[in-house]
Amino acid sequence: MQCPRTATPLTKVNVGKVAVYVSEKTGGVFLTNQTLALFESGEEARGQALARHLSQFHHPLPSIDARVNCPTCSETVMLRRYYSPLHVVEIDECPGCGGIWLDTGELKKLQSLMLNAKERAMLRQHLLAEHRPVSIEGMPHLRDSQRKEFNKIDRLLDLADWLIQG
Ligand SMILES: [Zn+2]
Repeated sequence: MQCPRTATPLTKVNVGKVAVYVSEKTGGVFLTNQTLALFESGEEARGQALARHLSQFHHPLPSIDARVNCPTCSETVMLRRYYSPLHVVEIDECPGCGGIWLDTGELKKLQSLMLNAKERAMLRQHLLAEHRPVSIEGMPHLRDSQRKEFNKIDRLLDLADWLIQG
């Protein structure tokens, strides 16, 4: 497997039993399908370990505008897309295998967008206080609206994840 930016070999590294493929030339990393979610928290040991490992190879590229080919499906051009609704971090995703290429520094940027557990808990408390559901026995339609209220709070929390850390 090769670095899509420099065509140098990628080094397989196991981080918390998850295999990732690191470009030691640039500090970029290839994550196979579904594994990005395991590293996107800078609060958790696995995310910290990968960010720390990549930082020792940190060599920003003059330009990352050029499209890259997927390291595993070499014929497939990866799609550059925004990872968050706030359009802060762009990532390269393979339409074939779902793998994700992060250029140097992009993992840290992603991690800085995530609320930590304590901030989420505080925000949840705050939102629950503002949207306190009413529960009356024997009136199921109220329980329905209560459920909707909780769904709304979850949606607000998701939104707040992106809004609070710009
Ligand atoms: Zn692929």
